Amino acid sequence: MAILVTGGAGYIGSHMVLALCDAGEEVVVLDDLSTGVRANVDPRARFMLGDVSDPLIVMRLIAEHGIRAVVHFAAKIVVPDSVADPLDYYLANTAKTRALLAAVTAAHVPHFVFSSTAAVYGDVSQEPVSEATPAVPVSPYGASKLMSEWMLRDSAQAYGLKYVALRYFNVAGADPLGRTGQSTPRATHLIKVACEAATGKRAGMQVFGTDYPTRDGTCIRDYIHVSDLVSAHLDALNYLKNGGANAVMNCGYGAGYSVLDVVETVKRVSGVDFPVTLAPARAGDPASIVASASKIRDTLGWRPKYDNLETIVRHALAWERKLPANSAAA
Ligand code: UDP
Repeated sequence: MAILVTGGAGYIGSHMVLALCDAGEEVVVLDDLSTGVRANVDPRARFMLGDVSDPLIVMRLIAEHGIRAVVHFAAKIVVPDSVADPLDYYLANTAKTRALLAAVTAAHVPHFVFSSTAAVYGDVSQEPVSEATPAVPVSPYGASKLMSEWMLRDSAQAYGLKYVALRYFNVAGADPLGRTGQSTPRATHLIKVACEAATGKRAGMQVFGTDYPTRDGTCIRDYIHVSDLVSAHLDALNYLKNGGANAVMNCGYGAGYSVLDVVETVKRVSGVDFPVTLAPARAGDPASIVASASKIRDTLGWRPKYDNLETIVRHALAWERKLPANSAAA
């Protein structure tokens, strides 16, 4: 009985594959390598190049490997790109998840763990954000993921699928043992960009938006270490195996840091004072979003191990230093 990891060559997926292999699970990866890196897939896992919306591939993998659970990471994740080309995001994230769910439910795979996002909440006025906060996404990216949550809810009702949807806050850092990390070229995520600046792969970086209604005018986010995020998925799989009810849960620490806090931490940890320029706000960025993290702790018994911005930055920097010098623009 194996576990199918879609997007297993990607940033979070490759950490999930390592964790599952370390736990002795049989793992099958399905990835189209549009942004993923084949070399980051643990050799203990089976790798299949392909599209999650291709029913022939998915049905074959399910039958051949006796898939008992799907962990679905494959997606597009850049908020401003989703604003520029929404239909591309509704195809990649919503339509392809619909196709995957059709195959998974037809083949009676019992369990599904879904990568959702805090972007489903949109511009929240109350902090921290609990799962009971109405989901009103302000970007096509958030909307594309919320529609997938609805498909899961309705598929659970209609076909008996059991699922957990995890709403990720801002994922960062790298495997503490340095086996994988964020490798996507032309990265847009803050900690990755700052680490590229600290390692000289970029001449400097920009801070997008300095007049938000926050303590220093820059956006506030809840940064979570990728290994803690992955352990939440392991907990979710065990929870479903033990008969846990369908659930949607935030995945964050409940602590907010501003863009300037992050930049200062990367400069301090790296010892490099890279150039930073102040720039206009990006489209679709909410001012502040911090998780209420009690539901996942109570429901899954999740206990993070790297709940510290400096540790996240240290691991992200260590990985960045291992990547080739031209990795940022490759
Ligand atoms: N950000 C920034 N400079 C960058 C990348 C990001 O100022 O080069 C800001 C971005 O505007 C947002 C925060 O950092 O306020 C987190 O952005 P990121 O893209 O990492 O994650 P998001 O919250 O958009 O998913």
